[in-house]
Amino acid sequence: MLFRTSAIDDRVRKILVESLYAQPISLAIGAANGILTSAIAAYFAGNPTITLACALLSVIAFSRVLLALALPRMANRDTRLLERVYEFGAFSYSLLLGISAALTVYLDAPPHVQLLLVANTIGYATGIAARNAGRPMIAIGQLLLALIPLVICLATRREPALLALLLAVILLIPAMMTITMQVFRTLRSSILAAETSQRLAEKMQHLARTDVVTGLLNRAGLNHHLVERLMRLDPDQKMALFWLDLDRFKEVNDTLGHQVGDKLLAEVAKRLTALMPASATISRFGGDEFVVACEAVNRHEVEVFASTMLEHITRPMRIDDLRMDIATSIGIAILPDDGKDLETVMQGADLALYHAKVNGRNQASFFDPAMTRNLVRRKEIEAELRIALQRDELSIFFQPIVDLETGRIRAFEALVRWFHPEKGELRPDEFIPVAEETGAIITLGNWITAQAAKAAAQWPDDITIAVNLSPLQIRAPGAALGILTALRDAKLSPHRLELEITETVLLEHSENTEAFVAELAAAGVRFALDDFGTGYSSLGYLNKYPFSKIKVDRSFVSGANAGKKSDAIIRAVSGMGSTLGMEIVAEGLETVEQVEAVRAAGCTLGQGYYFSRAVPDYLAAMLIAQEREKFAPQRAVG
Ligand code: C2E
Ligand code: CA
Ligand code: CA
Repeated sequence: MLFRTSAIDDRVRKILVESLYAQPISLAIGAANGILTSAIAAYFAGNPTITLACALLSVIAFSRVLLALALPRMANRDTRLLERVYEFGAFSYSLLLGISAALTVYLDAPPHVQLLLVANTIGYATGIAARNAGRPMIAIGQLLLALIPLVICLATRREPALLALLLAVILLIPAMMTITMQVFRTLRSSILAAETSQRLAEKMQHLARTDVVTGLLNRAGLNHHLVERLMRLDPDQKMALFWLDLDRFKEVNDTLGHQVGDKLLAEVAKRLTALMPASATISRFGGDEFVVACEAVNRHEVEVFASTMLEHITRPMRIDDLRMDIATSIGIAILPDDGKDLETVMQGADLALYHAKVNGRNQASFFDPAMTRNLVRRKEIEAELRIALQRDELSIFFQPIVDLETGRIRAFEALVRWFHPEKGELRPDEFIPVAEETGAIITLGNWITAQAAKAAAQWPDDITIAVNLSPLQIRAPGAALGILTALRDAKLSPHRLELEITETVLLEHSENTEAFVAELAAAGVRFALDDFGTGYSSLGYLNKYPFSKIKVDRSFVSGANAGKKSDAIIRAVSGMGSTLGMEIVAEGLETVEQVEAVRAAGCTLGQGYYFSRAVPDYLAAMLIAQEREKFAPQRAVG
């Protein structure tokens, strides 16, 4: 039981074994003492047996010092080997020391020689029992091997003084064993405590660098890993940084709850981990963003990674028995091509991601230096938009929406224009998203509604005005009231206002949206579902909200996707529209063929350059006047 150290954890054992070799200097001093003592003893005893024992002792002492210096490096720190070698040296040295001392007594060497070796042996045995307490087996073994020859020899002598010495030596053995064990236990428990606290610290650090939801690295973990990776990166190797942002994740979170959202994130994490090489660093960067870093030979390999990620993430997933489709946008930057340091490459990937999102999501974009220029322009727009309203640089243009049956104008859509003194005309696609991001859209939107209402108040009663609303405008407190006030100020009847909203609006903050729509609908304001076909195109909204129109996105009419398939979709939507009493507007009509096609497919209204571009208010008024003139005689005749 005394020697049972197998319970010691390997690491603690290693530390303790290393402690045997910790001070080669003490070993060297001990060895020098051994050699000197035995040389003197051999010389003065003049006995061949004693000389032989002393010579052997010196050889072992000398070899142990050499081994202690060389081994810890040579043995590759193999604990077992170190321990065995030490054991062998220690045991044989102790035994020879004991035997030499016993021989001097047994063979009646001169008294001072006996005194020298016996004292030396006892001193050594007690000292070593304490010094090597880190490995008690060895310490106690040495104690016994050094003292037992002495005990045996003393026991054969009948002299009282030597018998007293025998008794002292015998008593010394258990006393030293107890001390050894005590020192060992203290040593072990303090090492164990240090080990435990170190492990705890490591665990805390691991936790601090891990994302709880996905088990991936978090932002702190990513930074730590990347810094280390970059230090090890070969100069001729590239590292690609993929910055992913899930498309419309917020909608999932808002409509289905955070638990479902978390499961979705975990599934995305699982897929990323499965498809990327084991050496890739994968992290959740917060929210619905992931950052993946991976070594790559060339750009082609990076492209392959990106398309694999897109493909695997868009594969439908099943969460809580719900089938879910999620897509992602990816921004990619490559080190060292796009930047020499981590920060620059991260910025590049972020910019590229922004680009991917603006370009219509569900795609990957590589960083391009032009993106930095675009960002600069964006920042300028952001700063200048604040003052554009005061400087009167913005105005509202109107694009007619025409009845495809009669060819008469039924409404105008208000489209904002910005005539910048230096940059020229800016497209709303460029500055509306900026206004949405900065919150300027609230002021801007109120101003647009007021202007549009004022213009419409001048038109005949049967012509309505359509105004686009951003999601943020609807969420703003008092949004409905603001619109009703604008109508009152312009003296425009609410039923002549139509608000165009996109599906995104309906997906976000449903309660607010419902209240907003309900309040305005009760006042007589009408609603149109804008850009139909670009988002989820869920028909569920059509029953839930009182839409009077569905505007089929222009990509179905004149875009690259226009064709047989989109024709079928328009037909289906028109069929449903007429059943539900909704009108279907085809956007982006540019040619007479397109007009014919959408009319044949069942659209009732059309809008596009074929009829007219968006024009300033006085031209809109002129269009109405011309049309009235054209139709007036017919009406008189009819
Ligand atoms: P939208 O609501 O889909 O507006 C229709 C866009 O299509 C307008 O672009 C219009 O000029 C363009 N368009 C009309 N006919 C044709 C055609 O035959 N061919 C082509 N290629 N395009 C045609 P615009 O004015 O640049 O507006 C772009 C988007 O900016 C709008 O898309 C709308 O989402 C947003 N927007 C414009 N004005 C406002 C506004 O006052 N408030 C808000 N919140 N958003 C606005
Ligand atoms: Ca619109
Ligand atoms: Ca539209």
